[in-house]
Amino acid sequence: ALCDPLTGVYNRSSFDSALTREMNLATRNEQSFSVLVIDIDHFKSVNDTYGHSAGDEVIKTIVDRIKLNIRNTDQLFRYGGEEFVVLLNNSDCDAAHVIADRILDSVRDDSIDVHGESLHVTVSIGLTCLFPDDSTSSIFERADAALYTAKDSGRDQVIVA
Ligand code: GH3
Ligand code: MG
Ligand code: MG
Repeated sequence: ALCDPLTGVYNRSSFDSALTREMNLATRNEQSFSVLVIDIDHFKSVNDTYGHSAGDEVIKTIVDRIKLNIRNTDQLFRYGGEEFVVLLNNSDCDAAHVIADRILDSVRDDSIDVHGESLHVTVSIGLTCLFPDDSTSSIFERADAALYTAKDSGRDQVIVA
């Protein structure tokens, strides 16, 4: 019940409790903590052009590439259809930025082969790190707002809030 059937990563239902737990741990241990919100760029056109099952394959490939670039102590969630969140414990904004850049590169630099077609896909990323007075909603909303700025600024980039 906690995992998304398509990708095998955590789904939305466990996200709120995981975020609360990680924020509490970071505060208690005086450690940094960062959040990435990742959304596939122009994903609707992938579905419209190549079909929904090709879209599903793209989602799975992007999850694989995100997983290759995070640590096994980081937690990856499929937050919505083609939107993902990574919780990075013990990571400040600079460390999380390095990981976000690696994710951008690994999605962009290799095309995705589906049904005999070679698709070029990018993602946009909003990044923020824990502030002392944050709530679960304030930290998430800041990362999500940064994602929208990344979209507005041309996509295929990370914006730090
Ligand atoms: P943007 O760059 O602004 O994010 O554009 P977008 O086209 O990615 O954004 P939009 O929110 O308009 O479209 C998201 C699409 O994702 C629409 C929906 O059909 C598709 N989608 C959501 N979940 C799934 C899924 O599980 N499988 C497939 N194939 N498509 C999905
Ligand atoms: Mg999208
Ligand atoms: Mg979206």
